Amino acid sequence: MLEYNDHIAVALSGGKDSLTLLHLLVKLEARFPRTDLTAVCVDEGIDGYRDEALRLANNACTELGVKQLVVSYRELFGTTTDQIAHAKLSQTPCASCGVLRRKAINKAATIAGATKIATAHNLDDEAQTVLLNMLHGDPLRITRSGPVLKDPRGKFMPRIKPLCDIPEKEVMLYAYLTGLDFQSVACPHGHEALRNDIRAFLNQMEVKHPGTKFTLLRSAERLRTQMGSQLPLSELHECIRCGDPTPHELCEACVMLEAVAA
Ligand code: SF4
Ligand code: ZN
Repeated sequence: MLEYNDHIAVALSGGKDSLTLLHLLVKLEARFPRTDLTAVCVDEGIDGYRDEALRLANNACTELGVKQLVVSYRELFGTTTDQIAHAKLSQTPCASCGVLRRKAINKAATIAGATKIATAHNLDDEAQTVLLNMLHGDPLRITRSGPVLKDPRGKFMPRIKPLCDIPEKEVMLYAYLTGLDFQSVACPHGHEALRNDIRAFLNQMEVKHPGTKFTLLRSAERLRTQMGSQLPLSELHECIRCGDPTPHELCEACVMLEAVAA
């Protein structure tokens, strides 16, 4: 995942997962003098929620001596997650928020001059996403994600998920034992029904059949290794609105922003 001279943009939300990741990467970086770290934080514009997370993220960066770059949906896209939730689009606020966050983190990482983006998805997140893709009828998406994402066309900055095979409970344990000050209140829009149902189902399965989440992760890896290279890569053009690479005329984020503006 990591090379000796990487400049890693760590996506930092102020939650336990991203603060744990930052903490671990700071420790690793100290052993590799040619590496660099920048924490990138995104203000989605969620009243009564994001302010606290940004304050905790800022405290952690100051304490650890890590550079921090904050970008907001309002300045980048002229809207906020609160406004998107209010617009009641056909997709959930989380689906829209996720698309914009990817774009915002890419922009921040580019501004920071990073070579890689590290996100704090843990084993539970990854296992849920495998099932979510199946239940959304998009199994091929599984082959396009994974712990290390490197675009062979070189159009997107590589992304890594160093915590992808660490169970959420172990990340939580690390955060508590290390005394990390993390945000514990949940996002008011974070009730994506299907993911919550999958989370509850997988937690039950894990109790009855320990190892279920690992098995899902390994199954996805096997699919990726056996099928991923055989699938054709879509041709990318510049989005006519924002210029980002996309297989369509408009990128996913611009389609969504148009729907919000309508
Ligand atoms: Fe955005 Fe959903 Fe996360 Fe809230 S829970 S910050 S709406 S992705
Ligand atoms: Zn676009």
